[in-house]
Amino acid sequence: MNIIFLGPPGAGKGTQASLLAGLYDIPHISTGDIFRDNIKRGTPIGKEVKLIIDAGALVPDDLTISLVKERLKREDCLKGYLLDGFPRNLYQAESLESVAPPDMAVNVDIDQDILVSRLAGRRACPNCAGTYHVSAVPSELCPVCGVKLTVRPDDVPETIRKRLEVYNSQTAPLIAFYGQLGKLLTIDGNQSIEKVCGDIVEGLRKE
Ligand code: ADP
Ligand code: AMP
Repeated sequence: MNIIFLGPPGAGKGTQASLLAGLYDIPHISTGDIFRDNIKRGTPIGKEVKLIIDAGALVPDDLTISLVKERLKREDCLKGYLLDGFPRNLYQAESLESVAPPDMAVNVDIDQDILVSRLAGRRACPNCAGTYHVSAVPSELCPVCGVKLTVRPDDVPETIRKRLEVYNSQTAPLIAFYGQLGKLLTIDGNQSIEKVCGDIVEGLRKE
């Protein structure tokens, strides 16, 4: 089963993709995590993308698409994938259709006013890439590996605004794109993490 996620930053795409990866035993592939890992390791790609990501802009398509294509060739994707953060514009969506088309686009629909508090309270583990919210995990330490949680450099008010603009102008049109292909499952993302997950599983079962 090949699944992609749509929804603005903070909608809960990564949270749901990581839960579904455990349920369906297919890999959760986050382009944002791939870039952050490159930044952490100081690779040439990491150096190329750091300023772009910190500014809330999109990394160039050619680089992003080639990283995704390479990742999808790995053996763990034979049963499918859960792509989180890709595609983010029409060009990326068309290129994915030509290599490994998704069976379904899960659109996590959420009220704009909730997003800012979700992003401002997001804490990330620099070691295992786990994502938590400060209201649910008030400890400074990752509950899985004990490493100190950090605030993503792009989860600051000005960059959050920019990322939402980029989402609205470049990524939101993909909702219509997948709708026309008959591959769209829209879920109410304003609910609890467990309820959102249950609705996605139920929605995918019916398709
Ligand atoms: P995205 O991948 O769409 O940017 P995340 O999955 O990282 O979003 O979620 C953003 C923040 O909101 C995280 O701190 C996460 O723990 C929290 N979160 C995700 N889903 C929910 C939910 N349904 N209810 C409350 N908080 C949530
Ligand atoms: P995310 O972790 O999905 O919120 O992504 C963090 C940042 O990584 C984005 O704001 C972009 O700068 C970059 N990024 C992630 N995925 C993509 C993509 N598909 N295309 C371009 N840039 C991306």
